[in-house]
Order: sequence, then structure tokens, then C-alpha cells
Amino acid sequence: MTNSWFVAPLFVVPPPKAILYPWVDAVLCGEGEQALADFLKPGVQIEDKDLQFSLEHLGELHLPAYFHVNPRRMVNLEAGRGCIFRCAFCYSPGHYSSARNFPIQKVLEQVGQFPKAGIAHVWFVEDNFLNNPSHAKELCRELELLQCGVTWSCYATFPQLSQDVIEIMGRAGCTEVFCGIDAVGTVAERAFQKAFLRGSNPMTTKIHQLTSAGIKPTFAFLAAPPSHQAGAGFNDSVLAALEAQVAGANTLLNPLSLTPVRPPTAKVPTDLNLTVRWPK
Ligand code: SF4
Repeated sequence: MTNSWFVAPLFVVPPPKAILYPWVDAVLCGEGEQALADFLKPGVQIEDKDLQFSLEHLGELHLPAYFHVNPRRMVNLEAGRGCIFRCAFCYSPGHYSSARNFPIQKVLEQVGQFPKAGIAHVWFVEDNFLNNPSHAKELCRELELLQCGVTWSCYATFPQLSQDVIEIMGRAGCTEVFCGIDAVGTVAERAFQKAFLRGSNPMTTKIHQLTSAGIKPTFAFLAAPPSHQAGAGFNDSVLAALEAQVAGANTLLNPLSLTPVRPPTAKVPTDLNLTVRWPK
């Protein structure tokens, strides 16, 4: 009998790490909707359209209570999944087998309904809104034409934030973008397999382009301790964060830490009754 399931959409426990915990019986990982349906209602096939919210669904929520604690009237929405990058510290490459976008029309149908439900702002919560810049620009053009008055924010990758992308995002209602720079300097770039500041467009120029388009950027940097191989880049990270802040971005300096699922000497027990279900 299954007692304890993990449906792990984010940092929690990618298998096989989860089997470090004896109280975990099953892990549904990746795009887990079909695997969850197989558990709960065998024979039901989950389609992409089942992942879309309608006004009918929204009507089942007590939105006034939600808006009471969320005066910005913001909701999360997925316009895609996964990320085209493979940063060494990130859950995403191991969680999603590949990156994909949901159909633009489906995204528009949902956003277009939001004003009727009183929703004023959308956070596109997929890991990287700009996995496919051509697709993202097309979505932005359609959002601009929709003119429904809903503003939005997203996670985006620094190299894909070109001037034309930034401008079209601004016209489409984007007001904030969150971007993980993370690695600064050669040592950290190698350690984290991420080198976003290498492009020809300097960070301060990009910040200026974003703020000129009405988009407030937040840039995040990883601060590794001296004991970590990337620790030599600590000062570079702090200086880059300060430079970004002075140029007009919000900045986050995130300390690198070992998570409970990545103990350096953990041994994996072999006598557990574990079921790992991957999406089909
Ligand atoms: S760019 Fe961001 S989401 Fe993509 S793999 Fe790197 S850290 Fe993860």
C-alpha cells in the first residue's frame, strides 16, 4: 500500500535522491499529471487542454478572499515548461526532459478571461519565458493585440533578452523580469556551467533597455563560500550585484548551500519499496 507520495514540481526531491527518505513511497516527477492520473484514476488520458484554466474553474475559487491577501490581483500561469540551458545547480534540466511551449492561442484564451475574474496581473511561472525567442515574440505580439489590460511578469534568460525582445515584451504589458545571472567570472562560470555575462551587450546596457521599456529587472547572483570551487568568484559576484543595483535593477545575492537532498556522503538505502513514475 502506498502511504506517502511526492509530487515534486520544484526543488524538493528529484529521484533517486528521494529514496534517501524511508517515508517516501512514490515520487511523481517531471510533467507528472499523467502519472498522477494513473495513480488516482487509471485509464484517464491527460491532454494539454486539461492543463488550462477556464472561467468555470476560476469560479470554483473564492477569489475575493484571495485578492484580500493579494491586492495586486496576481495569478500564476504556465505558458511553457522546462529550460533550454543546463546550469549545474538547477533542478530544471533533470526535472523536464526538454523545453516546450503551450499553444499561444490557449495562453491567450486564459489571459483574455482574467479581467472578467478580476485578475490584473499574471506571473508566467515557467523556468524561461524566452526558451524560444521567436515563439515568445509571437506570444507578445498577440498579447499586445489582445489589449485586455492585464500586465505580466516572467522568468527569462539574460542572453535571450535582446533589445527587440525587450521592446516587444514591454509593449505587450511586461512590467517585471526575473533573471538569474548566477555565475560571475571564469571559475564560477565553469563550476556552474553558466556564462550569461559573456555576450556583447553589457549588463548595464541591458538594464537600461529594460527600464526604458517599462520593465523592472531583478538579477540574481550566486555567492559561493570559500570552501566551494566557485568561492574564488565571491568578490566578482558581489561587485556585479552592486553594479546591477546602481544601474537600476533589483538584485539578489543568493548564498550557495547544500540541500538536504544533496548530502555529500549520503548512501542510498536499497531495501525501500519505492515507485518512481515518469511521464509517458
Ligand atoms: S537558465 Fe535558469 S532555469 Fe535554465 S537551467 Fe539555468 S538556472 Fe535553470
